[in-house]
Amino acid sequence: MTSKDGYSWTEAQGLRAGVPSIGVIEPPTNVKSGDTVYDVIVVGAGYCGLTAARDASLAGLKVLLLEARDRIGGRSWSSNIEGYPYEMGGTWVFWGQANVWREIARYGMQDELEISYDFSKGINKYLLSSPQGVQTFTHEEEDALMQSALAKLVNVDGCLGRTVVPFPHSGVLTPEARKYDHMSVADRVAEIKNDLTPNERLCAEAFVLLCSGGTLETTSFYEFLHWWALSGYSYEGCIDYLVKYKFRGGQSSFAIRFFREALASGNLTYAFNSPVAKIEHGGDGVQITTRVGKTYKAAKMICAIPLNVLNDVAFDPPLAPGRKAAATTGHVNQCVKVHAEISDKDLRSFTGISYPHNGLLYGFGDGTTPAGNTHVVAFGGQHNHFHPEENLEHTKAALQGFAPMNIQRLVFHNWSKDEFAKGAWFFPAPGLLATHLKDMRARERNIVFACSDWALGWRSFIDGAIEEGTRAAITVRGDFAGRAKL
Ligand code: FAD
Repeated sequence: MTSKDGYSWTEAQGLRAGVPSIGVIEPPTNVKSGDTVYDVIVVGAGYCGLTAARDASLAGLKVLLLEARDRIGGRSWSSNIEGYPYEMGGTWVFWGQANVWREIARYGMQDELEISYDFSKGINKYLLSSPQGVQTFTHEEEDALMQSALAKLVNVDGCLGRTVVPFPHSGVLTPEARKYDHMSVADRVAEIKNDLTPNERLCAEAFVLLCSGGTLETTSFYEFLHWWALSGYSYEGCIDYLVKYKFRGGQSSFAIRFFREALASGNLTYAFNSPVAKIEHGGDGVQITTRVGKTYKAAKMICAIPLNVLNDVAFDPPLAPGRKAAATTGHVNQCVKVHAEISDKDLRSFTGISYPHNGLLYGFGDGTTPAGNTHVVAFGGQHNHFHPEENLEHTKAALQGFAPMNIQRLVFHNWSKDEFAKGAWFFPAPGLLATHLKDMRARERNIVFACSDWALGWRSFIDGAIEEGTRAAITVRGDFAGRAKL
């Protein structure tokens, strides 16, 4: 099946909107009667909504899952082109992420992972490209450079940030953490700029921007410290947790297991292509109206849509002021992620930074396609932001900013223009978490708000989405506690 989402380009086919994915659900709905009053309506079929819908339906609740798109997975989905999965959004997972690993074990997928890197042949180099030219390093030199650069960045306490974020899964921001949340990474770089070598500065800044998809000024220093703490306070940990292990069959091969298990419970009704426009809620339940005027009723609702689009839904009564303000501020991540299939086999083993001049600032060989070509993935963000489909020559030039390459195919999803995401993974500007983390997590009457964007641990990750979906289903089950069938 082909989703309306995503783009692909080849010389022969030109630019095409929509790419094939096993995450597209057919038939798009199994709703039989418009009069049913559900126990719970889950809005959003990303990992959070899928987890919540599955757990609630397995617990015996009558669940309706409403999703704006034609597919599951939200910000994590894979396109499958000529038998090869290109990850359009969320990609890498790691066994240190407890929620995600619990699910991988549940579905027996432990042996369905592969490693993105392959340094066994080809140029096997780290290419550091800046306006001054291209420098070439071994991957061992790359690791040493990155570790020393990031250690200087995070070492606010002589313990590599351990005293600032001692419990990375805690929801409490200590006074120190709040101080660093009000500080941007630009502020932090200004403090240590005389301690950084020019190469360390390039590496530290590019790595932070890879994580935040924002600018140095709009990136909360605390949230970077939080990622660092989650990754075991080391650069090696960052690589293991953030960019190394992915599904051979693509993310949609994982997400579909959640959906199928929920469906097999017999308690799941669903409707895709159903953007929700209005949510009315009172003491006795929730009424939801889609953009085409269909209404659905339930006792409870789990709202699993991202922060940056919450204000696009009309809530009656309106969202609580703190949540509304958080959604108005939004998160800052405007990541541009572009895949290229290239005929240059040697580049399978390259990693590179191309910064601060280029549109894409971080790239590496990510796989080998069935045709024997190299698959390269590259990332940009708000820094030198661009829309890949609007100027393909610019997009190709940004890829060639790492190294000359012979591009056969491009594949990407424009998350900035996606009306159901308005950005990529959550990354906060200074002050958002200190001011609004509690507000984003609070319940409003019969609505539980759940999303990776305000998870406690791996906030911004698939793991955080599953953490939140689990929390939401437990909360709603608690509401029905005492009902005979539970
Ligand atoms: P979403 O996936 O956004 O799900 C929300 C759902 O709500 C969507 O399906 C959306 O269509 C739907 N929706 C929105 N508005 C409405 C409406 N009005 N009516 C009905 N439905 C609506 N995480 C990792 O762990 N590893 C990675 O490598 C990684 N890389 C990433 C790379 C990119 C480019 C992106 C974009 C994300 C990446 N992430 C990664 C983050 C991860 O994808 C997300 O944190 C996670 O998927 C979010 O899940 P969610 O269910 O909380 O939200």
